Amino acid sequence: MPYEGEFASYRSLNRISQTDRVKSLLTKARVISPDATAAALTPKQAPPAPAGTSAFAVAIDGSYAEVPVKNGYPGAHVGYVTVASVLLNLRDQAQLDEQRPINPVEFRKTEQAATVDAALPGSNIVTREHRSARAAFREAVFEVFHDAVVDSEDPSTLLDTFKHLLGFKPKSNPQKCPHDGCDEEFVIGPATTTCPSSRHCRVYPTDALRIHERFEEVGSNGEAFGLVMQTWERVLLVHLLRCFERRNWLEGVGNLAFFVDGPLAMFGPPAWLSAAISKELKRLNVIVRQKTGNDLVIVGIEKTGAFVTHFDEIDPSETPGELRFAPRMYAMLTDKYIKQRISLSDSDRRYGQDTYFGRKFFYKTASGARIVASIPFLDDAQDTLDTDDVSLYPQFANVCGTLDRLVSSRFPNALSPIVSAHSHAAIPLHLGTKVLQQLAKALMTRKA
Ligand SMILES: [Zn+2]
Repeated sequence: MPYEGEFASYRSLNRISQTDRVKSLLTKARVISPDATAAALTPKQAPPAPAGTSAFAVAIDGSYAEVPVKNGYPGAHVGYVTVASVLLNLRDQAQLDEQRPINPVEFRKTEQAATVDAALPGSNIVTREHRSARAAFREAVFEVFHDAVVDSEDPSTLLDTFKHLLGFKPKSNPQKCPHDGCDEEFVIGPATTTCPSSRHCRVYPTDALRIHERFEEVGSNGEAFGLVMQTWERVLLVHLLRCFERRNWLEGVGNLAFFVDGPLAMFGPPAWLSAAISKELKRLNVIVRQKTGNDLVIVGIEKTGAFVTHFDEIDPSETPGELRFAPRMYAMLTDKYIKQRISLSDSDRRYGQDTYFGRKFFYKTASGARIVASIPFLDDAQDTLDTDDVSLYPQFANVCGTLDRLVSSRFPNALSPIVSAHSHAAIPLHLGTKVLQQLAKALMTRKA
């Protein structure tokens, strides 16, 4: 294993792959023949985009960095986690893009103002009266949720939304007291403040995320910070929708597409949130259907990973220079295809059963970009990977049309123009803490 920061070069990787031990392992490993892949996935023509595709998009995109700090203790680090929510006016975007390309440096300045961000203790950072860096980290995670008010006219916090989701968590799975040195096991609910032992350890509702169990007192905490970011992004999505509901704005949501960075899933110890988010999205969608006659538009975009690699690998056909996916073609991925071709498994359990609240598809945009996206399960019929029938998803045509519009030919194979707040191509409107007021204003103007 290389030391941290030391990357094996191509040459040395090649040398490893030639060793007898690796060769003998590979002779036992299954090999997928390219022909079988071609047979199993048939790209289909996307349905034509409806006349009224989404007028606005909200992109939620987080990032984190682990930064060394000098506090007198060796190896001390803090994590800096930011989640940006950006509103894009899709109708005006192409025009604005031509008229005034935004200077990325200038954009970054505004981005700073608009993001919700937090510094979290890393290894060897002990704050206040805490006894360990882990305890300090737990408190900071709680405070991030507690302090985050997205809309200045709606006092509800991300913590309120998180507690609502926590209410859906099954009570059957007690966890160990998060306090170091206490072995009490109990269920953390929305109202839990102490552990039931005689020690009455302080407990936060956010301890139910169990991210602190991945926290290292010594060494890197990239994983823990990544989990905070992932949780924050997805809870923010639900939070925005619940703010809409409270203000009776869900009827305007038909004009709006939500984009989330990464798959519609929750991984690691907070994976239980996936089922809770799914339940809440299905509940909200019932109201949206009543008000708009259609479903919510929520799209997860993967920029890296096995599915992105796989799409890149299968797109070229046997004929050199010819691609299997023509522009506006898609393939909805089934459980069978994923297990046979991408994430090798003989399990009877559905792929991503405990982690995903949506399903993936490949899409080639009108401009020729390859997109790995996922859409949520918004009712029980949609909650399947058995079929590639897109008629289950009434917004599928709108999603493809919106992706066509969002992916500029100048940025092939990347949705970064929308999802990444780092791009200068796609930010005509910027929301930040007043996200909801501005959005409401925009939606009302459209209606008039
Ligand atoms: Zn305890």
